[in-house]
Amino acid sequence: MTLRHILSLTTLLTLITCVTDPNHRVAADESSAKIQTEFSDAPNERSASADKEIYVPKSEKELRRSLTRIQFDVTQNESTEPAFRNKYWNNKDKGEYTCIVCGQKLFTSDTKFKSGTGWPSFYAPADNKNVGYKTDNYLFYTRTEVHCSRCNAHLGHVFDDGPKPTGKRYCMNSASMNFVEKKSSKLNEDKAPADSPSESK
Ligand SMILES: [Zn+2]
Repeated sequence: MTLRHILSLTTLLTLITCVTDPNHRVAADESSAKIQTEFSDAPNERSASADKEIYVPKSEKELRRSLTRIQFDVTQNESTEPAFRNKYWNNKDKGEYTCIVCGQKLFTSDTKFKSGTGWPSFYAPADNKNVGYKTDNYLFYTRTEVHCSRCNAHLGHVFDDGPKPTGKRYCMNSASMNFVEKKSSKLNEDKAPADSPSESK
């Protein structure tokens, strides 16, 4: 049973209690408050599932209005943008890559590596919960498709020829993502200079 199920069950029980016995209203409120507290203290895992629950999918009309044609084709129709002619394949800036459709955090510059493919490549997602997978057939082999776990936007594919520590290569479309540059003092804490010698050569 997942947390979502437990919460749904708790909410249901709370509602039943409210309806059947007005005297229990206070107790019910307390239990609601308790759930709220649990959520506010929750790590990414819980807040991510909470976000997913409240996320309202955008209509095709809305998507067409808010996305460029290539962003729409890639995220909604699983198109692939051209290698080397996309926004982030060579981006070395520090920051986060978020979903172009729903804004969910997908990757960070910390796991980005130079793959030579002409597409932005990462060896791991920012959070395993934030991406979903499905297999598809391409020419004569089976690939693993990667999408945003919150809005199902197609992101790219993952392959098993990536670098350590995961050995994975998340080959992403720039069109599926928005880059948010990290400018805070956290950068200095990480001691990760923008032009790290290993990356620039
Ligand atoms: Zn998304």
